[in-house]
Amino acid sequence: MSAAPLRYRPHHFLCSLGFEGKGYSDAFTTNMTAIVVGRLRAAEGDQTEIEVVRTTDDICAPCPKRRGTLCTSQAKIDRLDTAHASALELIDGERLTWGAAKSRIRERVKPGDLAQICAGCEWLPLGVCEAALTRLHDETN
Ligand code: SF4
Repeated sequence: MSAAPLRYRPHHFLCSLGFEGKGYSDAFTTNMTAIVVGRLRAAEGDQTEIEVVRTTDDICAPCPKRRGTLCTSQAKIDRLDTAHASALELIDGERLTWGAAKSRIRERVKPGDLAQICAGCEWLPLGVCEAALTRLHDETN
């Protein structure tokens, strides 16, 4: 029996690509590490199914900023989700594999694009997400 699909809001596809073990709390980081490192980056991880949702998801679950199905930074999260859903053409309820998601990122998000679609994210200035995006493009060139 295959595992249940992950549930991801739109901006968490690119966050997962760039994840380097930093987060909002120990519980948040432990959970995101289990998902990103333990599932998506594991052998066969590209086959992992992900369902697109427009609410709190499997990454948000233990976040100290979560308030029920909302976030203490809801306006910013809504902006990020809208920008990433548009950039990646992600539709609420859609299911795709992590491998397909990476292909879509490669096709539709170019190095340098995060300055626009991730505007306002506190992790953007670290540069790790742009570096991961560049690596993804380099792998296939
Ligand atoms: S800059 Fe922020 S929103 Fe953009 S991919 Fe990185 S963590 Fe996600």
